[in-house]
Amino acid sequence: ATPTSIMVGTGRAAEMGVLFRKGDALQRLQEVEVVAFDKTGTITEGRPELTDMELADGQSRDAVLRLVAAVEAQSEHPVAQAILRAAGDRAALPAVADFASITGFGVRGTVEGRAVLVGAQRLMEREGIAPGELVDRGKALAAAGRTPLFAAIDGKVAAVIAVSDPVKPTSRAAIEALHGLGLEVAMITGDAQATADAIASELGIDHVTAEVLPDGKVAALEALRAGGRKLAFVGDGINDAPALAHADIGIAIGTGTDVAIESADVVLMTGDLRGVVNAFDISARTMRNIR
Ligand code: ADP
Ligand code: MG
Repeated sequence: ATPTSIMVGTGRAAEMGVLFRKGDALQRLQEVEVVAFDKTGTITEGRPELTDMELADGQSRDAVLRLVAAVEAQSEHPVAQAILRAAGDRAALPAVADFASITGFGVRGTVEGRAVLVGAQRLMEREGIAPGELVDRGKALAAAGRTPLFAAIDGKVAAVIAVSDPVKPTSRAAIEALHGLGLEVAMITGDAQATADAIASELGIDHVTAEVLPDGKVAALEALRAGGRKLAFVGDGINDAPALAHADIGIAIGTGTDVAIESADVVLMTGDLRGVVNAFDISARTMRNIR
């Protein structure tokens, strides 16, 4: 590779909103066979909305939502924002004691003397709470690509709440174009398996790794790398930084967190995943001129 052609390629990429932070990334991109994406905020908008709330017998929507929102008001997770928007007036929420965030599972707190737990079904399992009559509703919601969250009050499941995070309008075209370049596409997420499977099948994604704990993304990449295949990882979040650094090529979304950007080889100026396709295109053209 001549320094001039690399410079020209890097410049062209920058004009298209693709910043190569490391010059050799333009060359190394040609060896990549698998592109793995983070789901939330990368493939999807990262702004979920509450879509459903199914109650256990004897529970009222307003009462459950009030307790759940009080606990979620202490959380920074996008899911918490969805629940708070649905609950309305934040100032009217009761106080919370003993708040704890259980990373990758959900949150807990004591509200008006009642123990409130909100999170994935695996949080209920972890706490020894039977999901009960609502387990099938949770499954149906996940099969529709929504994220089911279980809310337990005083050790009993009171509701299943679904949030839905829309897929970015350009994600499908980007994935199709990557397939057109002969690449395999994977998705890694902390979300429920059935939710992830539904989204992946809608988008034609080849491999899904779901229910990954925040520190498990590197191990998920290693599994995809079986047989020594080179891979690129695309992500936006704080939790994505280790995977961005570990992948053969880390591609960060520039509207994401600073730590993700600092860990990446390539930065996309917008959240449009067609930027990933542009990166591969420019890399191929640059290397073709050289050979
Ligand atoms: P992701 O970034 O894919 O959402 P996380 O590890 O942050 O992955 O979360 C995994 C799962 O844990 C979420 O899909 C959700 O079910 C649950 N969870 C995390 N935080 C919360 C929260 N504040 N309230 C309810 N559930 C949560
Ligand atoms: Mg993300």
